[in-house]
Amino acid sequence: MNAPFAPSKIESVLREIEAREDQIVALTQDLIRFPTINPPGDAYRPCAEYLGNRLAKRGFQVEYVRAEGTPGDTDAYPRINVIARHEGSGKGPCVHFNGHLDVVQTGAGWTEDPFAANVRDGRIYGRGACDMKGGLASAVIAVEALLDSGLKLPGAIEISGTVDEESGGFGGVAYLAERGWFSKPRVDHVIIPEPLSVDRVCIGHRGVWWAEIETHGRIAHGSMPFLGDSAIRHMSAVLGKFESELYPALATRYSKMPVVPEGAKQSTLNINSIHGGEREGFSGLPSPCVADSCRMVIDRRFLIEESLPVVKSEVKNLLDRISTERPEFRYSIRDMFSVEPTMADRNGPVTTALVSAIERLLGKPAGIICSPGTYDQKHVDRIGRLKECVAYGPGIVDLAHQPNEWVGIADMVEAAKIMAVATIDLLTRGHSR
Ligand SMILES: [Zn+2]
Repeated sequence: MNAPFAPSKIESVLREIEAREDQIVALTQDLIRFPTINPPGDAYRPCAEYLGNRLAKRGFQVEYVRAEGTPGDTDAYPRINVIARHEGSGKGPCVHFNGHLDVVQTGAGWTEDPFAANVRDGRIYGRGACDMKGGLASAVIAVEALLDSGLKLPGAIEISGTVDEESGGFGGVAYLAERGWFSKPRVDHVIIPEPLSVDRVCIGHRGVWWAEIETHGRIAHGSMPFLGDSAIRHMSAVLGKFESELYPALATRYSKMPVVPEGAKQSTLNINSIHGGEREGFSGLPSPCVADSCRMVIDRRFLIEESLPVVKSEVKNLLDRISTERPEFRYSIRDMFSVEPTMADRNGPVTTALVSAIERLLGKPAGIICSPGTYDQKHVDRIGRLKECVAYGPGIVDLAHQPNEWVGIADMVEAAKIMAVATIDLLTRGHSR
């Protein structure tokens, strides 16, 4: 690190962060207690305002941006984002910490109250504890300690709390990125404190394609199925081709991206759901009918070495081939959602600053990984045209979206220290520009 500060100055920032452990805990608890469940997007406004009010008191310039007209945005459930900026003492670059405020539904299986934020055995329990209110709290405390230290930091620091990450980020980072909030010259480096663990920097993620495939049949009496045409049997032909051709093909493809866990270095396909024939959910007996429709939703995760058009045509070609082999096979396919893979430069400033901070503070090599799933980095890269964006934060990603989600307090303190050192590094590196 080439910071123009005496090591003792930096040491005192680190001691100060350790002394603020109670503040990290309290802030994480306060954030968890806003039940920002998405969908539908509950409590977005009070949560954003809570964060904004805190940072305004610390001298940040705070702005709220409602993503009007984005999916789910209504007066009852407004998509409210908060962005706070603290100018530096000179013309340095800007480091931006971005955390999503929304959490997924609680689901079954909790023995903890998901919104009480109870502390036990060095952990804070609650929905969003690790994904990612704990990470956001770590970033806030790291930045506050830096600002209180009196170190003259030439560059600006921003902190944003954004919404809808769990549903694609369209009312959050994507909306803001379209309006220049995540581009140069405003922002130079973005760190997203997702729970990828305190000793790893996540530089990107695979791509996603969701689609619905429907096979079409003809209804008839179930006692005379030969008079109809079963959409479910047509779908079974699709599944057969997936098993015999598509899955084996995907299993041969490996990415150079450092995706974890190991299995996610390959192309993958999940079948999210299949529905054929009469609707479920009624009481009583079904009536005997041949299914005239069967729908399947697929979730294809693809590699940076693959392209989205090729990924799509691979499935379409397979369906077209079934059409030539199977009389009366008719299908339709509907795109639902797609995300391109993204990967930051592993030798870029934001990655190297975090790697060297991890190594300095933890005394061991940092891991450089990619995520199997996506997060808001895609929007910063594709829309904001800013490659300098990575995820780094405390917590264990496997606990995300699970019952009894928790984040470790010691992890949060450690991550805050690493974020502070990396921020000093990034802000002072650019000083000579
Ligand atoms: Zn998350």
